[in-house]
Formats: sequence, C-alpha cells, structure tokens
Amino acid sequence: MYDLAIIGAGWAGYNAALRAKESNLKVALIEKAFIGGVCLNSGCIPAKSLIQSARVLNLVKKSSDFGIESLEPHLNFLKVQQRKNKIVEGLRSGMQFMLRGVDFFNAEAKIISSQEIDLNGKIIKTKFILLATGSAPQELEQLKFDGKKIISSSDILSSDEIPSSLLIIGGGAIGCEFAGLFASLGTKVVILEKRSSLLPGVDSEIARKIENILRRKGIGISTNADLLSVNLKDFSRVLVCVGRSVKISIPGLEKIKVEVDNGRVIVDEYLKTSLDNVYAAGDCTAQVMLAHFAAYQGRLAVDNMFNKDGPKSSDSLNVPSCIYTDPEVAFVGLSEEAALEKNIDININKFDFLGLGMARVIGETQGLLKIISDKNTGSILGASIMGPKATEIIGILTLALSSKLNLKQLRSAIFAHPTLSESISEALR
Ligand SMILES: Cc1cc2nc3c(=O)[nH]c(=O)nc-3n(C[C@H](O)[C@H](O)[C@H](O)COP(=O)(O)OP(=O)(O)OC[C@H]3O[C@@H](n4cnc5c(N)ncnc54)[C@H](O)[C@@H]3O)c2cc1C
Repeated sequence: MYDLAIIGAGWAGYNAALRAKESNLKVALIEKAFIGGVCLNSGCIPAKSLIQSARVLNLVKKSSDFGIESLEPHLNFLKVQQRKNKIVEGLRSGMQFMLRGVDFFNAEAKIISSQEIDLNGKIIKTKFILLATGSAPQELEQLKFDGKKIISSSDILSSDEIPSSLLIIGGGAIGCEFAGLFASLGTKVVILEKRSSLLPGVDSEIARKIENILRRKGIGISTNADLLSVNLKDFSRVLVCVGRSVKISIPGLEKIKVEVDNGRVIVDEYLKTSLDNVYAAGDCTAQVMLAHFAAYQGRLAVDNMFNKDGPKSSDSLNVPSCIYTDPEVAFVGLSEEAALEKNIDININKFDFLGLGMARVIGETQGLLKIISDKNTGSILGASIMGPKATEIIGILTLALSSKLNLKQLRSAIFAHPTLSESISEALR
C-alpha cells in the first residue's frame, strides 16, 4: 500500500513527490509521457532555450556596438534545436536522479476506486491520490490544430524549420514571446489580438511600451482584431496561443465522483477535492497556471494531506509572473490599475533604465521599474518591471512583498553597484 500516488509528473507532481519523499512516505509517481510535464518538455524550458539562442544572435549582430567586429552570423536552426533538446534531456535525467526512492511508473493512470489505480494492468493501492495532470494548448473551434499549418506552442517548439511567415493568434505572454523569438530568427510575424492591447494583466504602461518595441522589430500587431479579417493563405504557419485548456482526462475518474467543472478539478483552499483522500495541484486546478505555482501547490497538497499541525491554505497573492520578451517583463502583486480599481490611495516609485549604469554597460537601456505602495502606510503592494533581467530582479521585490516589507525598510537595504537590481534603490530615492 502506497501512502501517496501522484498522477502526472509535471512541476506539480514532481515537487509533490520530492516533498513526500522528504517525509519518508511511500510514493508512486505516474506519468504517461515524460517526466517534467509541459514546463520541461514543451513549455518554459524549450521556449527559453530557443529565446536564448535568438538573444545570442541579436547580440552578435550588434557586436560592433561593443567594439567587436565580427563576420555576419550564420544561424543553424538544427543546432539551436539540438542545444534545446540537450538541455531538456539533461534536466530530465537530473529529475530522475532526484526521484531516487520514489516508485516511478511510465504509464497512463486509470482510476479503479479512490484507493486503487490501474497501470497497464498492474493495480496499485494507495491511501491518498494527488491529481496533477496539467493542461494542454487551447484549440479554437474554427481553427483546429493539424500540426502542419495550424499549430500549437508544442508543435512550434519541436519544429525543425523556421517558418517564413507566422500568424500568431493571441497576444498574451506566450504569443508575445514567440513573436519576438521568430522575428529575431527572420520570420515575418503578425500578432492578432482580440482585446484592445497586448499582454492582458500586465501594467498598461509597460504593455504599451512592449507593443511599441515589438512593432519597431517589424512585427505586425492587430488589436481589437477579428480572426476573419486575415487571410490565412498569407502565412506559412498559424500559431494559436489563446490560452491553455484544462480538461482532466483520467480514465475512470468519473467512478470516484471527484467534482469537476468544465474539465477543471474543483479544490477547496487546502487543495482537497470533493473526496477526503484525493487532492489536486497545478494547472489542472486552473488557478495561477504557472510552473512555480504548480510546484508550490504540489508541495502544499502533500503537507496538507499528512501534516498533523493542521492544513495551510493555498495563497496566490504574491506569485511573480515573468514574460521572456526582449526586454523582459515581470510583475508581482498589484499593478497600478489593479490598486486604483480597489480604490487604494497609492504612491508610485518609478525608474527608467536609461539612468542605470549597468543597463548602459550591457547596452540594454529600454526599461522601466514601478513599485506600487500604499500612500498612507508605506506597505508595498506590487511591482512591475520591463527591462534586462526583469525576471531576476522581480525575485527581490517578491521577497519584499511576501515578507511584508514597507518602502522604508526596502530603501534601507544596500544594493550593489553597478547592477540591474540597483533600479530598485534608484526608484525608491
Ligand atoms: C510555451 C509555454 C511556455 C511557458 N512558459 C512558462 C514560464 O516561462 N514560466 C512558468 O511559470 N510557466 C510557463 N508555462 C506554464 C507551465 O508550463 C505550466 O504552468 C506547468 O507546466 C504546469 O505544471 P503541472 O505540473 O500542473 O502540469 P503539466 O506540466 O501539464 O504536467 C502534467 C503531466 O500529467 C501527465 N498526465 C496527464 N494525465 C495523465 C494520466 N492519466 N496518467 C499519467 N500521466 C498523466 C501529462 O502527461 C503531463 O506530463 C509555459 C507553458 C507553455 C505552453
């Protein structure tokens, strides 16, 4: 009898397994595809690996700005993909190594009862089950994926050729990352977004700046757009990036009556489903659909199943979001608009990266940092950054926010010079 059987070895399931292993529990981790789930195999890591190659290409192209006269760079996309695959495989074997002591089953889990799971004919028994089955690319009713012309993020990440032209439907984080990536690789890119601006959820001043930067890179952007307004024949590929679909598919799940709404597993604040011994974590709960939140929920679900000190509720307040455009975007807590909508009297500390020594040194001065605080108490409410390494700098502000620091306390910290994180102390002056 296992203490815990985890279905899905994405970031939620993997982190849950490690947490359970730390607590000396007997754990089964079940995965029908590859360890690492979407994040490692068809999401964060492969996307960022290709983006890094595009960055290197851009840097070589502007090397003469740094006094380095180099020849015209030659892009070898096959090698770019090989590098990406090597990174993914390396990380996958690292995860396998970390899972020593956990029973890993490469099989599709089928539910027999709330304590029995069928793995290709082998039945295992378990006290608890964690559902961590993740999400898949969302299809459009009128544009079904065919893997050739109408493609998903997973298709494009494994493609061995660079499309000559690419229509991206959806100007959210993933759409904008792919737009910047393929424009850098020489593809003619157009983004079609049905809303009035790109990057919903991002501070509107920063979203506008990113839109202008993408346009200056030669990317066509059509907002308030109707799908019918474009001729798909004008593009060699159509990449649909309209979000992620959460449709839990575990054969036999209906037998145990776990409550599901439109494919999403319903959980309470402690990540427990409608059954006492079945919990869920990560994208399949459709809360904050990010890898680090999935990992947090995976660990929390295990703590709540076995912790005798009482359960802790899942908190999505201080979860940073990162977008790997060039320049990068990152934010945590409340944006200016969100704070104003809540009628909070706010103070905004802003800093433009043009005035930052390190931004000049690395030749990346497009950037803006905004810290939103409560005017009356000085409490930090949120921060938004656009700029080089924004995705790293946000970690400091996430820590400040989750430690409930106020402006005065953050201001008293000494930031090293010259660094990009100095943008924080500059904003607070
Ligand atoms: C292109 C792209 C870029 C992204 N970039 C970022 C980023 O930069 N940062 C970030 O935080 N997030 C990013 N994300 C989102 C991130 O990938 C997801 O939030 C994360 O993967 C969710 O983890 P999970 O464990 O909940 O689910 P998943 O990673 O989806 O894993 C679920 C696993 O369950 C398995 N499974 C399902 N059903 C069964 C079954 N019946 N039996 C056995 N196994 C089963 C699946 O095969 C899968 O491997 C990105 C996503 C995409 C698509």
